[in-house]
Amino acid sequence: MKKPTMRAVLGSVSSFLLFFLTVGFIVSCCMMLFVTILADTLGITITSHNIATAAKVTFWNVILITFLFKIADYIRRKIMVERPTKLITEATERIMSGDFSVRIKPMQSSGMEGFNQIAVAINQMAEELGSVETLRTDFIANVSHEMKTPLAVMQNYGTLLQAPDLSEEKRMEYAKGITDGSRRMADMLTNILKLNRLENQQIYPEISEFDLGEQLCRCLLQYEAVWEKKNIEIETELAEDVRVKADAELLDHVWSNLFSNAFKFTPPGGTVRVSLTATEHHATVKVCDTGCGMTAEVGAHIFEKFYQGDASHSVQGNGLGLALVKRVIDIMHGEIGVESTVGKGSTFTVKIGRC
Ligand code: ADP
Repeated sequence: MKKPTMRAVLGSVSSFLLFFLTVGFIVSCCMMLFVTILADTLGITITSHNIATAAKVTFWNVILITFLFKIADYIRRKIMVERPTKLITEATERIMSGDFSVRIKPMQSSGMEGFNQIAVAINQMAEELGSVETLRTDFIANVSHEMKTPLAVMQNYGTLLQAPDLSEEKRMEYAKGITDGSRRMADMLTNILKLNRLENQQIYPEISEFDLGEQLCRCLLQYEAVWEKKNIEIETELAEDVRVKADAELLDHVWSNLFSNAFKFTPPGGTVRVSLTATEHHATVKVCDTGCGMTAEVGAHIFEKFYQGDASHSVQGNGLGLALVKRVIDIMHGEIGVESTVGKGSTFTVKIGRC
């Protein structure tokens, strides 16, 4: 805290004098009035000597009382104003310098309710900023980690490609390795950008009315090559004429991610089932697979960014798909949930409003 300057001291003295003069004047007037009325009532004659003595006593009384009041006010201000102000200033200075661990202890004494409210707000702000900072550093660590793997693979293939006398088959294999690695990185960056735009509310849903069943069929057909290659059976049970008012492009991301996961985690010969039901106000889509399933522990984290519960499929994704899905569903004020049994399969259920 800064030391009081000469100017501040002069200011305090002049305010004390002003206070004293005002109080002194008012008290003297009151006294004069009171004494005159009293003298008239009792029929006493007041001499100038009496007045001089009374004036002196009043004067020193006023000096003493104003002095005591000033001291009491000074102590009150030190405890009730300056101490909390110092605590708040120090805390905000620490937050400004990047220390988000700071917390202000609430004061127990009465009359500090206002200060305690500010302290609670500052503590919440520090907590929020701390978690944003943790998310930011985690995000950077995750992105760097996710980029390192394909980059290392591409570097290896690049070195191998430099070898002389490579057979055509090897050359094609190494070139494919580089193309796959760069595609993985491009996919991840596309997802990061999409997620970033969704999180920063830079995407405003473009609402149109369309047939949800048709959209699901169109999206599912994009995976025809995958399900045929893995010999996966497809079952669909889609209610007819379920029209919804929503952003078709955003919903496309949701179905694509759920279908691609279902096909990715279902072994050859398995089944993927898609159903659509509707009430007057809501449409419910279920994507059910007979894949590897997941534990409750994994299920609790799948909507987090970069989370990958199944390491054996980690090269085929980057853990951003379901984070994107969740964000889209949140924007649409919908609901998403998963039921899963390890070794048996998973069912993702999405519920959205129809208008
Ligand atoms: P990724 O691109 O790695 O698949 P996602 O965000 O789409 O990332 O999924 C996160 C994790 O959720 C996956 O790594 C996997 O553990 C789990 N998961 C998602 N869908 C399924 C599913 N149909 N069956 C089993 N596990 C799944």
